[in-house]
Amino acid sequence: MTMRHLFGPILSRRLGHSLGINLVPRKTCNYSCVYCQLGATGKTTGEIREHVPLEEVKEDLELFFSKPHPETDILTLIGDGEPLLFSPLGELVDFIKARYSLPTALITNGSLLALEERRRASKRVDLLLLPWTQSSRRLGERSTVPGKASPWRLTWRASSFTAGRWRGGCGRK
Ligand code: SF4
Repeated sequence: MTMRHLFGPILSRRLGHSLGINLVPRKTCNYSCVYCQLGATGKTTGEIREHVPLEEVKEDLELFFSKPHPETDILTLIGDGEPLLFSPLGELVDFIKARYSLPTALITNGSLLALEERRRASKRVDLLLLPWTQSSRRLGERSTVPGKASPWRLTWRASSFTAGRWRGGCGRK
């Protein structure tokens, strides 16, 4: 079956069999981290919009689960960039919860958690995974290059605040 926005499931030590949902086109990100496996971000963006059609993502999920499929423990919202730039994230999580009895995880750089609306949307997921660089401000400042829309100080404070108060699980990616 051809999937436009899904990949895996990939066996992960922390998540089990994780089906990835790619919510932004390649290198759509507000950061350019030195360790990024996708390479440098040509042009950072902080634009929050429906970077890929929500309906296509839903169709892919319906197709995947309508047929015999590999073991799947969790649906992981990620992307070839920053998934919190995908505006209908909350709507997608609600759809997943209504349709499938599987938990969700969000892998994010944490920067957009400074925005109240993005925090609300992301709190619908079961597990939040922040980058290891968020564990230290000094480390983060040296290894990530936030775009103009995401000053590091704001990012660090937002993700630290959120990590400390998350109702579901919270880890480092
Ligand atoms: S936040 Fe993630 S996708 Fe964006 S540059 Fe850093 S590692 Fe790459």
